[in-house]
Amino acid sequence: LHLYAAADVNAVERTLAMVKPDGVSGSHVEAIKTLIRDAGFTIAAERYWHFSEAVAKEFYAEHSERGFFPNLVEFICSGPSLALILEKEHAIADWRLLIGPTDSSRAREEFPKSIRAKFGVDSQKNCVHGSDSRQAAIREIALLFEQDQTAKKSMQHDEL
Ligand code: UDP
Repeated sequence: LHLYAAADVNAVERTLAMVKPDGVSGSHVEAIKTLIRDAGFTIAAERYWHFSEAVAKEFYAEHSERGFFPNLVEFICSGPSLALILEKEHAIADWRLLIGPTDSSRAREEFPKSIRAKFGVDSQKNCVHGSDSRQAAIREIALLFEQDQTAKKSMQHDEL
């Protein structure tokens, strides 16, 4: 039991990363993938999606009561995003560290090496997403990678 628990601590974790529409249209995908690999993550899967309003609302459901929600949904639906499943030990926390704080200006001031500092515009167009917990990672990976029938009905695959 002790050995099993010790192994579990170092277990490879999965997280859902996403290059948002501003990152894709700003041609930052290759630079971001290089930063991902240089930080020791494995890209286990990747997929371009052009979010429908329904899936965007589901993806960001926890923010549905916030004032910024309608603008956020419009932004996420404004062009294709690249969803990625990242794997590594401590993938969830380490990816959150690498992307930096939500507000890109704050990221530039406090975490200048973060992805949002480098490529984000403001607190909405902040280039990348990262799951903030194991539960969120499981939910988001299921929504974007595992529900193919739902996905086909509610998302348009972008022909990039
Ligand atoms: N967002 C926004 N305005 C805000 C705060 C957040 O448009 O004042 C957007 C932004 O794109 C952010 C997303 O909503 O990435 C989700 O917000 P959250 O607080 O979960 O930030 P994150 O976990 O992405 O850093």
